[in-house]
Amino acid sequence: MRAIDVRDLLGHPGASRTQALHDTVQGLGIELASVSDAIDAELLLESVVEGILVSGRLTGTMSLRCARCLKDFTRSFDVQVAGELFTPRPPPDSDEYPLDPEGSLDPEQLVRDAVGIELPFSPLCAPDCRGLCPVCGGDLNLGECPGHEQADPRWAELTDLFAETDDAER
Ligand SMILES: [Zn+2]
Ligand SMILES: [Zn+2]
Repeated sequence: MRAIDVRDLLGHPGASRTQALHDTVQGLGIELASVSDAIDAELLLESVVEGILVSGRLTGTMSLRCARCLKDFTRSFDVQVAGELFTPRPPPDSDEYPLDPEGSLDPEQLVRDAVGIELPFSPLCAPDCRGLCPVCGGDLNLGECPGHEQADPRWAELTDLFAETDDAER
């Protein structure tokens, strides 16, 4: 994602303008969810004494793989950015972003953070996805499984593991 030239705002507290971006962010993804297409950003840049305050919205499409049936699908996202401060000298351990004192604002880490937390750890193609048959591997949504007497207990363990990972990440 390209940097934004904010020389017109620096040192002019109270000044503001909007900035639209349409750009990709490299390597934005987790195991079953990623964003490889360009993200649209509609940002409001406000000059404050400390630096530049950035708010607005980020929209785009995430590529997902269903955690139950492994089907690939996409879902749009619309993320609000409440007001993040870019400052030339962010204090350590703060959630402020660095601002090049020369007047170049790189929004990539902000976009990465804001969209990254929206990526689901266990995407489901549908809330009631029935997944794959643990015995024959048939897609139960498509009725590919002819039906069996018993489910494989190993699959239940794996499902529990997914559930625990999901909880731990929240
Ligand atoms: Zn599914
Ligand atoms: Zn089956």
